Amino acid sequence: MSPNCLQKTMSDMASQHTSHIVIIGGGIVGSALAYFLSTSEDGKKVTAIDRSFSRLNGSTGYAPGFVGQFNESEVLTRLAIDSVEEYSKVPEGFDHVGGLEIATSNAGVENLKMRLASAKERGLEAEMISSQQAMQMAPDLVKDDNILALHFPGDGTANPSTITAFFQSEARARGVHFLEGDVTGIRRVDDRVNGVMTSAGFVQAETVVLATGIWAKNLCDFDLPVPVIPVAHPYMYGEHHKPKTYKSPFVRFPEHHVYARDHGQFFGLGSYDHKPLAENPEDTALGNWKEDFDATLDRALQLIPANTNLVPREKFNGIFSVTPDNMPLVGEIPNVKGLYMAAAVWVTHAAGCAKFLTRMLKGERVDVTMQKALDPTRFQGRDMKSLERVSLHCYNSIYSTHERS
Ligand SMILES: Cc1cc2nc3c(=O)[nH]c(=O)nc-3n(C[C@H](O)[C@H](O)[C@H](O)COP(=O)(O)OP(=O)(O)OC[C@H]3O[C@@H](n4cnc5c(N)ncnc54)[C@H](O)[C@@H]3O)c2cc1C
Repeated sequence: MSPNCLQKTMSDMASQHTSHIVIIGGGIVGSALAYFLSTSEDGKKVTAIDRSFSRLNGSTGYAPGFVGQFNESEVLTRLAIDSVEEYSKVPEGFDHVGGLEIATSNAGVENLKMRLASAKERGLEAEMISSQQAMQMAPDLVKDDNILALHFPGDGTANPSTITAFFQSEARARGVHFLEGDVTGIRRVDDRVNGVMTSAGFVQAETVVLATGIWAKNLCDFDLPVPVIPVAHPYMYGEHHKPKTYKSPFVRFPEHHVYARDHGQFFGLGSYDHKPLAENPEDTALGNWKEDFDATLDRALQLIPANTNLVPREKFNGIFSVTPDNMPLVGEIPNVKGLYMAAAVWVTHAAGCAKFLTRMLKGERVDVTMQKALDPTRFQGRDMKSLERVSLHCYNSIYSTHERS
């Protein structure tokens, strides 16, 4: 233990809580974990800690909530299906509007055909539709000069804030303790976790889970690379419009790295079509607007029908994490007994990942393929500089994964 950690421990001892499990982070991942752990009847005391529960300062608070269940990674597909099942139980949590992927070139069509075949193999409902059909489904977001579209009727949009609030209130009702405070360090005794130092005092615990999203690296002073790289990402809201009489599916333009949706009273649009930019976030997932992002959004807006008159009313840089294989890091950190992590998890996979980790924490058998694919130690032996480079490279292919078999 570093002398610094020791010093904080001694002064924080004045106000001490004890818990069996501490979850650091109250975004959608930590809150889902608190919820699933609270449904267990093992009598274990769970404490969830965040700098703020009243306001979601992490990525969850800024995510527009696109949930496409199909992924090249079979593991991510399963986690997404599981998550949608859970979100559908949350009042106002999930809207089954469906998802459209639009091809604007022959190469794009070939890609959609491959995705259709794989999606069907995984048992997902999917169909290729004409560009006219796509226009009928999403007249405000799809132009008439596209070639073909892939429709996923089972996809939709999540309301991350509503889902997170639901998980928290259910967990609280079942006895999870919610503590507002800044976690400043993880205390170890020998090679075991002993608790966490926080601005609200020391919390003793035999198990600690890092669900700290883009801040995952901050508390990781164990001998392991944690390539959870925060990146800048532009998203915009259009002017308010009257609610439509129809519900548009969300739309993705994979060749252009652009996506758009109807938020009900305004449209939203985001793009990955820019140079990846690493961030070093302070205490919010809202970064400074980058000059290049105006041109990025201008290019993206060219894909939207002129009649929609979509112009930015509000634009922001929302920060989330990328990893070297576009897979989350979920599981045990064996170097420090009792320490676990669930980071770089998308809204799309959050409930599924939290359920997976709950089984692990309860000592139940977990799917070995999933465990291997999500293993937080899988980058051991590689240097952080090159892992960061590879992760940033993955930003432009956010829907591609390099899952280990
Ligand atoms: C603009 C944007 C668009 C996105 N689009 C989508 C999308 O369409 N679909 C999708 O699936 N995902 C999307 N994402 C990604 C998604 O939002 C995140 O992956 C997800 O919300 C991460 O959840 P989390 O709980 O892990 O992290 P967060 O929501 O960031 O929560 C982490 C929490 O940890 C707390 N914390 C950190 N360190 C400490 C500490 N030391 N002490 C106390 N508390 C601490 C923070 O306060 C924070 O509340 C998007 C994100 C952004 C920003």
